[in-house]
Amino acid sequence: MTLPRVGTIKTHESTRKLARRLETGTARILSAAVRRDAGRWYCAFTVEVARHVSAPARPDATVGVDLGIKALAVLSTGEPVPNPGHLNRALKALRTASRTLSRRVGPDRRTGQRPSARWETARREVTRIHTRVANLRKDAIHKLTTDVATTYGTVVVEDLNVSGMLRNHKLARHIADASFGEIRRQLDYKTGWNGGQLAVADRWFPSSKTCSGCGTVKPKLSLANRIFTCDACGVIIDRDLNAALNLKQYVDLEWPGDTKTGRGADQKTKPSLAGGCETPTPHHLGGQDGDRRLVTVGCEQWTQ
Ligand SMILES: [Zn+2]
Repeated sequence: MTLPRVGTIKTHESTRKLARRLETGTARILSAAVRRDAGRWYCAFTVEVARHVSAPARPDATVGVDLGIKALAVLSTGEPVPNPGHLNRALKALRTASRTLSRRVGPDRRTGQRPSARWETARREVTRIHTRVANLRKDAIHKLTTDVATTYGTVVVEDLNVSGMLRNHKLARHIADASFGEIRRQLDYKTGWNGGQLAVADRWFPSSKTCSGCGTVKPKLSLANRIFTCDACGVIIDRDLNAALNLKQYVDLEWPGDTKTGRGADQKTKPSLAGGCETPTPHHLGGQDGDRRLVTVGCEQWTQ
């Protein structure tokens, strides 16, 4: 990678894909942004790419995706998408490291206390694990959204994580909330890339409280209750799978026929047209603190 003033730098990640596109003239670099994050250097390219829209493996199939905390997501096919195993381990390490940090002598503006060297060490460790947790989650999310978007013609998700707005101070919960919008954003542009479409269920659609068997809506369902039991038809089903099935049926029932189902979805959100741009997601180029190697990443902005 050659940057003005800096010169040519080796990158940790391969730039081959991007270079090949430049050689064949199917891509044009519009800009590059260099930044440093948690001791690593990144360079993100904004690239205009000629991309052909491919078709999903099952264009007529619809899938409901219920995003969760315990699992990353549950598909209406009954397939749970678990959080990566590394993630839970990293979260545990993060808790330990944060505790260590809080026990050491940190800076105090009131007393003028300077942070101790051991505090600085602990802080670097916390930062490192934070970055790792974020990266593990990013990777899992990209794999999930790519998988779903290349397989199904229609993907249905909830509008907002309404149930998640209940007060919950757990770390995992917090992270799940933060990535909810990101998953939706990726599904939006990835379904566009693959000739599919993304449908967003109305925020008032009671995907968790509705029975996927008979359509009865429960007045109340506590978050702690992981199993959905229907009082009307006696169905017993995993809570998240039930929600995913309802999301799938949401499209079958409400769109494009436009018929009201009386399931409590009194407002409708038209499925948004998929497509759009991927914001720059720089890949890691390598290098730890103080390491001067630059990192580059191929990042594509999609325009038509
Ligand atoms: Zn039922």
